[in-house]
Amino acid sequence: MEYEVVIGLEVHAEMATRTKMFCSCPVVDSTQAEPNTTVCPVCAGMPGVLPVVNKQAVEYGMKVGLALGCTINHTSLFDRKNYFYPDLPKGYQISQYEHPLASDGLLVVDTSKGEKAIRIRRAHLEEDTGKLTHVEENGQNYSLVDLNRCGVPLLEIVTEPDIRSIEEAKAYATTLRGILRALGVNSGDMEKGVIRFEANISVREAGTDVLNNRVEIKNLNSFRAMERGIAYEIDRQIKIMESGGTVAQETLGWDEANGCTYTQRSKEDAHDYRYFPEPDLPPLVVDPDWVHRVRASLPELPRARAQRYQADFGLTVADSALLAADTTVAEFFEKTAAAANGVPGKTVAAWILGEVGAYLNRTGENFENLKIKPETLADLLTRMGNGEVNAATAKVILSTLLEKGGTAGEIIKAQGLQQTSDLDLIASLVAKALAENPSELESYKNGKETVANWFFGQVMRMAGGKANPQVVREELARQLKKA
Ligand SMILES: [Zn+2]
Repeated sequence: MEYEVVIGLEVHAEMATRTKMFCSCPVVDSTQAEPNTTVCPVCAGMPGVLPVVNKQAVEYGMKVGLALGCTINHTSLFDRKNYFYPDLPKGYQISQYEHPLASDGLLVVDTSKGEKAIRIRRAHLEEDTGKLTHVEENGQNYSLVDLNRCGVPLLEIVTEPDIRSIEEAKAYATTLRGILRALGVNSGDMEKGVIRFEANISVREAGTDVLNNRVEIKNLNSFRAMERGIAYEIDRQIKIMESGGTVAQETLGWDEANGCTYTQRSKEDAHDYRYFPEPDLPPLVVDPDWVHRVRASLPELPRARAQRYQADFGLTVADSALLAADTTVAEFFEKTAAAANGVPGKTVAAWILGEVGAYLNRTGENFENLKIKPETLADLLTRMGNGEVNAATAKVILSTLLEKGGTAGEIIKAQGLQQTSDLDLIASLVAKALAENPSELESYKNGKETVANWFFGQVMRMAGGKANPQVVREELARQLKKA
């Protein structure tokens, strides 16, 4: 039997505001700040306190909603979602339930099979929970609670169950991350947990419309965890179906260390959370003028940017998507292309994705921390374009620039790397190469034309890579003909 997987994704994205969702506590880097240092009575859930909505968080949520083609609802409501867990001091989370901030959007993503449109059901505002760290020490188990994250604004973005493969799920997640970063509402720093996933998964016989019981996998905290979790679950559900069983509707956790899912809660419905309107907050009203202003402030999004690169620079779909996916990389590319005189955009793209990319992979550094500026790379590529240095030398210069900074001009001068087009010098090197290798010259004369390339390599090596390759080729051809 052929199977088809039906996946819906929920993405929890922290909004990078200065302060928390309902109080004035600062939002801090959870990996840096001392635990429980940015907590006040509001986010610690003390009795009698009153929450106040963070306007910036609402605006960020609107930006995301608009970028995903959603309707921004004029009036949305905050509700209490009640449950007991040690990372939730209030015993409830303020969220939006029946009336979210944004609804009915669409995100188009690229996959190996072409474009795929994934409907967005809703995007709603809520507050994050605290963080638990489970410790095992001297045979004892205990948990540490850090409430710094309590009350950090979260936007939960929920798709319709339109995703049909792991590849589509990954494309959706990475595309969404690119949009969040382009909008400046989330750093996209997965290691700091600023984007987390939950996946609803069910498997059915291919070609049917049946919706079987679905499971929800929680705490998928990286792209890799999401992929592995979904793959594990598809496999598990198919095995149950093939043995004649029925998949139970339940909430699962993802065990990253053991690579498997485990039961967290059995069948869970919304009424288990006893949602009711948050009595301490009035309805959230967003007037149309505000929506217009936010819409007008949206930056160019990665997909539009990639299409522009294809049209303006003739880049491939893959290269333009790679460059446009990250605003920092895209801006670096555009600045370099603008500053590089007479150098095609394709060349600039190739050097950034090739040489610079390889350096980042090798060193594990971030693009943000590069020692080279766009103007410096542009200067180097311009020098290569006008023949001052050849490509091999330019690569050597670039690696110095990446490691130590500085300018191409300084490195060329210091290391004597100027390319020479001096015809007398090149002619003498060619003559020397031919004279020193009589048997190779003989075989060339006997019709083995590939030897010309070998001679070319010899001359370039003798010149320390600094000879202008075009001049060498011409002079070599001339002398070989004469010989
Ligand atoms: Zn607070």
